[in-house]
Amino acid sequence: MLGASQAGLPRPDKAGAGGKIGLETGTGRFFVHCADEDCPLVEDVLSRLIGISGWAKTDRREKTVEAVLQACVEEGRKLFGQGITSFKIEARRTDKSFPLDSYGLRSEGGRAILDAVPGLKVDVRHPGGLIRIEIREKAYVYSNARKGLGGLPVGTAGRGLLLLSGGIDSPVAGFLMASRGMGIDAVHFHAYPYSSLEARQKAVRLAEILGAYCMGIRLHIIGFTKIQLRIKERSPLPWATVLLRMAMMECAEKLALSIKDKCLITGESLSQVASQTIENLTCTQSRIRLPVLRPLIGMDKENIIRKAEDIGAYETSILPYEDCCTLFSPLHPVLRGSPREASALYEVLETEALIGEALRDRETLKCGFC
Ligand code: ATP
Ligand code: MG
Repeated sequence: MLGASQAGLPRPDKAGAGGKIGLETGTGRFFVHCADEDCPLVEDVLSRLIGISGWAKTDRREKTVEAVLQACVEEGRKLFGQGITSFKIEARRTDKSFPLDSYGLRSEGGRAILDAVPGLKVDVRHPGGLIRIEIREKAYVYSNARKGLGGLPVGTAGRGLLLLSGGIDSPVAGFLMASRGMGIDAVHFHAYPYSSLEARQKAVRLAEILGAYCMGIRLHIIGFTKIQLRIKERSPLPWATVLLRMAMMECAEKLALSIKDKCLITGESLSQVASQTIENLTCTQSRIRLPVLRPLIGMDKENIIRKAEDIGAYETSILPYEDCCTLFSPLHPVLRGSPREASALYEVLETEALIGEALRDRETLKCGFC
């Protein structure tokens, strides 16, 4: 398996069903060595690995003209067998001692295919199939190049803590930040027994789905029942959601600092719900200092849903288990809260000890590590 990438690949020398899966790095290419029966597993990992621009499954060939032309013919036959009737060859020769230059590779390779596979013709403008030849330390010929997810390798942009609810938005937010190279930790707040165990499991499943894209996620699960009950006892009902968000932010910031994450990430999108007006977003983050990244802030719900479908999270996100936020949410929430009033109401809650206890009692799971 040949990967064009700026990225590292996960877990070199992992044992697959067919034996050891090995990783070799080269200039501009990574090579994943595996047995045929492990190819589906490797391709599954590569298809979800952020930072990979593309990959192809291929054999390593002897670096002789005969072996390369033979491989071209095999690729030509493969294309024809798939009902493809035209092709183009692209060639790259980093080893300049090889007797054919890239022009020679294209023309000799093309000639060999045309002689051996009469149904195929050359079409350089609109080819049905593209055969690539690379002459490096060995020769590689392939026609099955696949596009990767692109983006920047996860971990190159520091780590952030994703507030992961059970909804549609936050997994997408985590994916977008991971695509910019950010390593992701996640925190989920639940209000068991007011929220169900299924709601908690849904968050775990979402962390697993997202973790498969970013080389695993550590998910911190934190009980917020006492804090929600405190809000219910001591606050005006219209403020309940904004105050809950403020408590989540405070707790998440403490956690992020303790695990050395550099920012918080949320799935908030401007004006999507009452707690996401610009005024309420200002209240929400008013008592913390870490930056809050909101990659969905300018996206509409349709685009967010499309992205959730693309990453395979949507079906899980729409399972009908209510999370802690919906439990005590007011019918008529405050729409344009003032940070000063929010802060005064928040003081009344005396959250410090409750948040300390919630953090101490948290459960941490590893999700989506391969
Ligand atoms: P989502 O679809 O991600 O649940 P939403 O549209 O339902 O988002 P809210 O419920 O207002 O919006 O939540 C806004 C953001 O707050 C979420 O995207 C998430 O980042 C965070 N959040 C909400 N509930 C939780 C929770 N139970 N645990 C962790 N983070 C949460
Ligand atoms: Mg939600």
